[in-house]
Amino acid sequence: MAKVKAKKVIPRKQKKYRLTKQRAAILKYLQGVKTHPSAQSVFKALLKSFPQISFGTVYRNLNFLQEHGYCKEFVLGKVSRFDGRVDSHIHLICDQCLSIVDLDDKKSVIQLKKLARRERFHYHFGNFEIHGFCAACMKKMIAQGDIFCEACGDPLHQLTKQEEKVRQECLFLKEGEYIK
Ligand code: ZN
Ligand code: MN
Repeated sequence: MAKVKAKKVIPRKQKKYRLTKQRAAILKYLQGVKTHPSAQSVFKALLKSFPQISFGTVYRNLNFLQEHGYCKEFVLGKVSRFDGRVDSHIHLICDQCLSIVDLDDKKSVIQLKKLARRERFHYHFGNFEIHGFCAACMKKMIAQGDIFCEACGDPLHQLTKQEEKVRQECLFLKEGEYIK
């Protein structure tokens, strides 16, 4: 039987464009920061090397880069955030300060791909989001008495290093199960 070549839904190779100076500078900036900036932040950063650049130009260039596979865009709250990394990876997102941190764990990404395939789902890219509070926000909120223990309902006091470690591990391992 003749082998039928499967039609690729997503082109494996993106057409490469010669990037204008501004587009190349935007891409370089995106790839150089870990903050996953908004268009506004990219604009502010670009002003240093292109004092005459407008927000509209930055915005259009970001769209071009995203549409042509040079960067990724995702919406957080109501604001678009841009990522210079185009491979599948996991994001730790702080719901308090909206910081986004890459969590590099290839094994987990492969596992998620396998799970998708098991559902006969054609996987091509995953931006996996884990929501919560970053360490700095958590510390601030505990100090302000804004965080309550989900087990006993008491406000969390400033935990000792050891207590914090145990709690973090516990929270991380099993959602909904807390140390008492
Ligand atoms: Zn935070
Ligand atoms: Mn990222």
